[in-house]
Amino acid sequence: MATIMIVEDEQAIALLLKYNLEKAGYETVCVAQGNKVLSTVEKSAPSLILLDWMLPEISGLELCKIIRNNPDLKNIPIIMLTAKGQEEDKISGLSAGADDYVTKPFSIPELLARIQTNLRRVSSAFSNIKKEYTFKDIVLKTVEKKVFRGENYIQLGPTEFRILQMLIISPYQVFSRDEVLKNVWGNSIYVEPRTVDVHIRRLRKALNEFGPDYIRTIRSTGYSLDDHMAEDDSAE
Ligand code: CA
Repeated sequence: MATIMIVEDEQAIALLLKYNLEKAGYETVCVAQGNKVLSTVEKSAPSLILLDWMLPEISGLELCKIIRNNPDLKNIPIIMLTAKGQEEDKISGLSAGADDYVTKPFSIPELLARIQTNLRRVSSAFSNIKKEYTFKDIVLKTVEKKVFRGENYIQLGPTEFRILQMLIISPYQVFSRDEVLKNVWGNSIYVEPRTVDVHIRRLRKALNEFGPDYIRTIRSTGYSLDDHMAEDDSAE
């Protein structure tokens, strides 16, 4: 079951959220202080963060930016909770990297619907994740963030790791460059689509040192993990 992290300094609201989310079947982690957010995110690996805008010490907006700039955390959906309803605040929240925005006082059914939508958006790649995925002789361990090919440890950069994780979760599925960008870099940062090719090339080089090339390039379409390589044009 997905864990939702509640970042809220007003205890009454935090308790209300905790109660309703647990009733809806989620696990919850509550944090009241902005400076505890990062360490708690790293420890509890939430599937989604409900982030209050007005926090003592550090604002929700600042936290949102910090989370989005952390390569390991930036794909976690963030819904900003705020008493501010003006359009310009909404825009600055979204441009700081929030995925969605709910104005206080909010209705619980509406909030639950927003949570579901945001979880569904990332579910294929980032929630309900298994500890280990294998494809042929490739083993990817999601908790340790390690990749092996047979007995060999493959050293990958964080971006290459996330690309492989996306591919190995859904082998044979073809991901377009845009889908790779969205899954690996998130919506909030502009990355040149060609950058995907650069990281795929690095990933391929690292993996192929110890076995056949299972990354299939489908020209002008995208990439997949596939062991039926005969008819395509995977060489680059
Ligand atoms: Ca507050």
